[in-house]
Amino acid sequence: MSLHDLNWLISHSEPKATKMVKYLREQGISHDELLALMGSLPRHEFVEPAFSHLAYSATSLPIGRNQTISQPLTVARMTQWLLTHARLGRVLEIGTGSGYQTRILAHFFNKVHTVERQQWLYLQAKQRLLSMGVKNVEYLFADGQTGWPHKVEMDAVIITAMASKIPLALTGCLKQQGILIMPIDHPSPQIGCWRKEGERWKCLGTEPAFFVPLLEGLEHA
Ligand code: SAH
Repeated sequence: MSLHDLNWLISHSEPKATKMVKYLREQGISHDELLALMGSLPRHEFVEPAFSHLAYSATSLPIGRNQTISQPLTVARMTQWLLTHARLGRVLEIGTGSGYQTRILAHFFNKVHTVERQQWLYLQAKQRLLSMGVKNVEYLFADGQTGWPHKVEMDAVIITAMASKIPLALTGCLKQQGILIMPIDHPSPQIGCWRKEGERWKCLGTEPAFFVPLLEGLEHA
């Protein structure tokens, strides 16, 4: 994306979105294309309607069924880690939620595989992204702890719900040198980025953040 396109996108964004981008930049998000994308996406369409006026604020918000969308800085940080460290081939996302993070991943990765255990959220997010013309996403209504059902190796795995331990199926489907992004709650709630190096995991960064828990089984609409 050229600097001209970037400036055009930002100048045509909602004023609240422009302020959000300024805040993200101040907090160390420097990837121009990511900032332009977040500045141009209608984040208010991803949250519960009663909270749409807060969609561009530095806060997590309800998306229905007691789940939340992460605050913009957390989304931006996770994505910037991926853009810095991962091969942008295939990514597996556990916790589709509103589809906001999925939409951003779909912009940068060739293929996004996303899993959601809450049927209502799964249906809403799929419908929302299809109506936005997003084509490179495969959606699955399942418990994501068992990974993606077909044997495909991922360049990155991003888990957007807090687990007490890493589900082995998820690390197993990651390629060597692949990138894992997941929340951990020890010693305090945070999100981290790791690279798979043989049997070891190299930590590439962490940042304080809160997430809803990774749950077992399915919840039907
Ligand atoms: N990234 C989302 C927000 C995620 S909130 C967004 O941008 O809106 C976490 C999501 O993970 C919730 O939608 C929750 O239902 C889902 N989730 C929790 N446990 C899960 C599991 N085992 N498998 C798949 N999805 C799960």
